[in-house]
Amino acid sequence: MKTSEISGFYKKSLKERLELVKEFGGLSEEEAKTLANTGALGSALAERMIENVIGTMPLPLGIAVNFLINDTDYLVPMAIEEPSVVAAASNAAKMARPGGGFQAHTTEPIMIGQIQLVGVSDPQAARLKILEIRDEILAVCNEKDPVLVKFGGGAKDLEVRVIDTARGPMVIVHLLVDCRDAMGANAVNTMAEAAAPLVERVTGGKVYLRIISNLAVTRLVRVKATFLQDVIGGQDVVDGILQAYAFAAADPFRCATHNKGIMNGVDAVVIATGNDWRAVEAGAHSYAGMGGHYKPLTTWEEDGQGNLVGTIEMPIAVGLVGGATATHPAAKAGVKLLGVQTAQELAQVIGSAGLAQNFAALKALATEGIQRGHMSLHARNIAVMAGASVEEVDEVVRRLLAEKLVRVDKAQEILREMRAGE
Ligand code: NAD
Repeated sequence: MKTSEISGFYKKSLKERLELVKEFGGLSEEEAKTLANTGALGSALAERMIENVIGTMPLPLGIAVNFLINDTDYLVPMAIEEPSVVAAASNAAKMARPGGGFQAHTTEPIMIGQIQLVGVSDPQAARLKILEIRDEILAVCNEKDPVLVKFGGGAKDLEVRVIDTARGPMVIVHLLVDCRDAMGANAVNTMAEAAAPLVERVTGGKVYLRIISNLAVTRLVRVKATFLQDVIGGQDVVDGILQAYAFAAADPFRCATHNKGIMNGVDAVVIATGNDWRAVEAGAHSYAGMGGHYKPLTTWEEDGQGNLVGTIEMPIAVGLVGGATATHPAAKAGVKLLGVQTAQELAQVIGSAGLAQNFAALKALATEGIQRGHMSLHARNIAVMAGASVEEVDEVVRRLLAEKLVRVDKAQEILREMRAGE
């Protein structure tokens, strides 16, 4: 009987682990070899990044062209498995240029570290006691990270909230930490742990959680772009996009997909630069849901000249140091290609990619529908899935599109015909 209970799996070499996995999953020699290919990362580095490594999971890396952000040109690396995204971003960025491209800025890169205090009978008084020792708490935090302080960051302020919960009132301390060019989770978590004993001492309560919040309301990026009416296809297109936006703003079912389209652009750049996309995703959707009504992360309006004006506002906690950003060789090359000097500048590029992606999706949806653009790229995936070789793919795609039937069974049929010389 095969079992997934394997003691000391982590102590085995990558090769030994792979051998075990191969046997467990009935993988072929070829499949095991595919998993073991560690590509640009290399096995030594992959093993330093996570546990129980057996290989890597490669994603295509594409380059979005045409981006003009704050009067600077960027080539934007995007790592994503979904067809159409890179093309759509490039297209949208091209259409934004006649209106001046993207105007982007950010708040300071401040993250919130939370400390959860329970077991105090007078939570409001406890709140004041914590605020009274604000300077002492900040000093203890900053002692933990002199490097961050040297770069102008560090714990800057403190907020204390009293919240009602199913287990009674809790006192929640927010440490406001300027993370400069780090995403900051490790830095903030370390500070929250260091501050906790002071909070317990002064209140007599008990601290449980000490952890960063991904709802980074103090680390926002804001981007605006004007799409000239003539450039994007006239008043009908403007009206269609405004209708689509109104739909998303009024309906959470549509809004989820509206924001998903934004995240197509955002995540692809976040991943290509080695950043934590789960953190950015969590921040984006919790920000969209603030106030109890799930909202679009973008807005769309018509200006006085009939042009379409789009904005995006969302938290984007990314770094240029720490995590995988400075260790993953492909991420490092991606950051170098972008030429960004600060994490804030990187966030501006990512926000612009999100806004561009949203424009492209809304324009397609409000006019010809999304499937036409999607289908030709989707057809490539279907052709490969059906077993087409590199030489056969283009012809299979051409025939699938001509017959307007993009399905694996159809692709297999075409392949059979092609191989039979028909
Ligand atoms: P880190 O601790 O590896 O690097 C940050 C440190 O780099 C700073 O504390 C500072 O000492 C130093 N540094 C050097 N130059 C700097 C500069 N110019 N600006 C700022 N700092 C500089 O990483 P991190 O950014 O604190 O944490 C990011 C990692 O934490 C990611 O891998 C993320 O996946 C992970 N993480 C995330 C969560 C979450 O989002 N909820 C929770 C836990 C861990």
